[in-house]
Amino acid sequence: MTVRLPSGETIPALGMGTWMMAEDPSRRDAEIAALRAGLDLGLSLVDTAEMYGSGAAESLVGEAVAGRRSEVFLVSKVLPSNATASGTVRACEASLRRLGTDSIDLYLLHWRGHVPLAETLEGFSALLDAGKIRHWGASNLDLADMRELTSLPGFCQANQILYNLSRRGPEHDLLPWHASAGIPVIAYSPVEQGRLLGSPVLASVAERHGATPAQVALAWVLRLPQVNAIPKAGTVEHVRENALALELRLSPEDLADLDRAFPPPAGPRPLEML
Ligand code: NDP
Repeated sequence: MTVRLPSGETIPALGMGTWMMAEDPSRRDAEIAALRAGLDLGLSLVDTAEMYGSGAAESLVGEAVAGRRSEVFLVSKVLPSNATASGTVRACEASLRRLGTDSIDLYLLHWRGHVPLAETLEGFSALLDAGKIRHWGASNLDLADMRELTSLPGFCQANQILYNLSRRGPEHDLLPWHASAGIPVIAYSPVEQGRLLGSPVLASVAERHGATPAQVALAWVLRLPQVNAIPKAGTVEHVRENALALELRLSPEDLADLDRAFPPPAGPRPLEML
């Protein structure tokens, strides 16, 4: 299952997140093993950010992908406070050093801050010219922000937003806009940081398929074309479980049950973020 970027390149629909990794030294080996197991299973979109562990997550990703960089579609993010034209370039160079690579595949503005978008895009453009990033995009941008961003020069390749069964607001206007613009959405916190997994409705849908609640939550996000999901899993077992979500097709009955428990938005809602 893949998603097509505006550039024409295809990337795996299911990837892996890394927020909260590299926070506890006793979990480090398990986290690296989890990321490597994910690569073995084809979950080769790896999402990180300079913010995560103040760079420690990027260093952990660098270690996990060492020797297999070419298999990975690597996503990282610049903090809004660094996102001036020159600050974006400096932040990216520091990320590249931590990641142990010459180039980031997709470099995102983590959220919108006080720096005008046009200045950040100048930084992205310099990084593209220097071959330090292959694509750029954004994160946590709502519809008005995306309209503004795409009116500026250059080609945004994705917007990474909070989207899961309990955060359906983007279905009202942002997801339809993305679909018509041909710009993918990368859904973060697809299992709501674990909070969705105790839902009895998810359990009953899962039971019908011999699946697990996590697999149902991920298959639900991945039911839409042009939407990626990037669950964070700190163990090989969780990664293996999540990878099987790619084989789960939810039926109309499943979707109706999930709609009753997690209703779609009745009107516009501000974009939520974590
Ligand atoms: P997720 O919804 O991915 O949930 C992660 C939590 O779910 C972890 O506690 C993990 O536990 C648990 N989990 C994962 N798989 C399973 C499973 N199969 N069974 C049981 N528990 C499971 O939340 P995140 O907030 O981490 O979002 C995912 C990624 O999205 C982040 O890591 C980050 O890369 C990105 N992100 C981006 C943001 C942005 O502003 N752009 C904001 C937030 C996230 P365990 O570790 O024990 O496996």
